[in-house]
Amino acid sequence: MTERGKIYLVGAGPGDPDLLTVKALRLIQQADTLVHDRLVSAEILRLVPDSVSRIYVGKAPGRHTLDQDEINTLLIDLAHGQQRVVRLKGGDPFIFGRGSEEALALARHGIPFEIVPGITAAQACTAYAGIPLTHRGLAQGVQFITGHRRDNQAPAIDAATLADAGQTLVVYMGLTKVPLIVRDLLDAGRAADTPAAVIERGTTPRQRHIVTTLVRLPEAVESAKIASPALLVIGEVVSLSAELEWFMPFAEEAQLRYA
Ligand code: SAH
Repeated sequence: MTERGKIYLVGAGPGDPDLLTVKALRLIQQADTLVHDRLVSAEILRLVPDSVSRIYVGKAPGRHTLDQDEINTLLIDLAHGQQRVVRLKGGDPFIFGRGSEEALALARHGIPFEIVPGITAAQACTAYAGIPLTHRGLAQGVQFITGHRRDNQAPAIDAATLADAGQTLVVYMGLTKVPLIVRDLLDAGRAADTPAAVIERGTTPRQRHIVTTLVRLPEAVESAKIASPALLVIGEVVSLSAELEWFMPFAEEAQLRYA
C-alpha cells in the first residue's frame, strides 16, 4: 500500500478471523485509520495494530451512531487528509452493506478507492451450519434477499420466486420480521414443511443454529431467543445439515432442534 489518500472498502467476512482474505489482513495491518462498524467481530479487531487509529461508526438496529451521509463525509475528509483508510465492513461490502453507497460518494468526489470483497454471511453461516446453498436435485439456485421493510410493505421479491421449491432463500436482516416473512412464503405457496434454519452469530464461537420447518420458524426463533445478527435460510438444502453439521462451538447446546 504505497498510495496515500485512498479508501479501501474491505469486507471482513462474517466473524471468524480465519475467513479474512489475505488482502484484507494486509490492508488492516498497513492502514493509517480503520473505520468499522458493529458487525466486525472483536476477534478481527484484535488483529488491528495499535498504531492504526480506529473510528467506530457502528449502527445498532434503531440506534445510529453516524448516519450514512456522515460516514460518507468522514471517509472523504480522511482521504483529503492523505490518510490510508480501511473502511472495514462485515461480510462483503457490496452485499446489503451499503458499501456501494460509500463507493459512489467517493467516486463522485474523485477520491481513489479499492473494493476488497469479503465472504458474505449467506456463504459462511450456511457452510458453518452444514447447509450447502445449492445441491443437485434439491436447489438449482439461491436468492439473497433482505427481510428489512416496513410492516405493511409488500415482500422484496415476487411471489413466483418465493414459491419456487428449487430455490434456496437466504434472508438478511430478517430477524424482527420472521412471522411476516413466513406468512408471505406460505401465502406464495411454499410448503409449510419446507426445511428452514436460523443461524445466529455464524462462524463465531457463539454460533447457534436451529433447524426446523418454515411453519415452525417463528416459534423456534422466539423460544430460543435468537438475537442479531442472524440469518434465515429456507429451502430443501437445509435438511442436509443433519448429516453435514461439523462446527459445534459449544456442542449439544448449539444444536437445538425443533423439527
Ligand atoms: N455485508 C454483510 C451483510 C450486512 S446486512 C454481509 O455480506 O454478510 C446485516 C445482516 O447480515 C444481519 O442482519 C444478518 O442477517 C447478516 N449477518 C451478518 N453477519 C452475520 C453472522 N455472523 N451471523 C448471522 N447473520 C449475519
